[in-house]
Amino acid sequence: MNHLKSLIREVPDFPKPGILFYDITTLLKDAQGLRSVIDELGGHYTGQGIDRVIGIEARGFIFAPAVAYALNTGFVPVRKPKKLPARTEFVEYQLEYGTDILEVHRDAIEAGQRVLIVDDVLATGGTARAAANLVEKLGGKVVGFSFVIELDFLKGRGKIAGYDIQALVHY
Ligand code: AMP
Repeated sequence: MNHLKSLIREVPDFPKPGILFYDITTLLKDAQGLRSVIDELGGHYTGQGIDRVIGIEARGFIFAPAVAYALNTGFVPVRKPKKLPARTEFVEYQLEYGTDILEVHRDAIEAGQRVLIVDDVLATGGTARAAANLVEKLGGKVVGFSFVIELDFLKGRGKIAGYDIQALVHY
């Protein structure tokens, strides 16, 4: 997967000093790069009876619908608060400073459905853990996670231990 790595731009000190930001827009604009990311993300879960693919706002929205299409299933957005119009379920989770909330429509996942959660980057794992809790609150079964990038040194995998985790590129 070194080819993918070569397409990801590293931007120092964004959005604040000390953060090295992994910018996937350079990968997205590359036709071959985009195709291979979606093929790889979806391919790992082909034949596993996925009923719903969850994308986490905002960059999860870029990949999850294409993965859902590849798996011939539906896409569900997990959003920041007050964006979804119908009845929602929510989870509150810890950030470095303070807390955040993720929401999903209550009728987006039915009890027993097999769910794949997709995001661009696995960093500390807090967001991924919260998304899994949200799916499970609705009775869904989390089959696994797909990330384009995993920041190994942050050990986010530990927060979602026990689930299948796919990441295409590691730093
Ligand atoms: P976390 O909850 O710490 O795993 O962070 C997850 C979210 O933060 C992901 O959805 C990413 O979009 C974003 N993120 C965290 N660190 C980075 C980074 N170094 N470069 C790009 N995005 C990041």
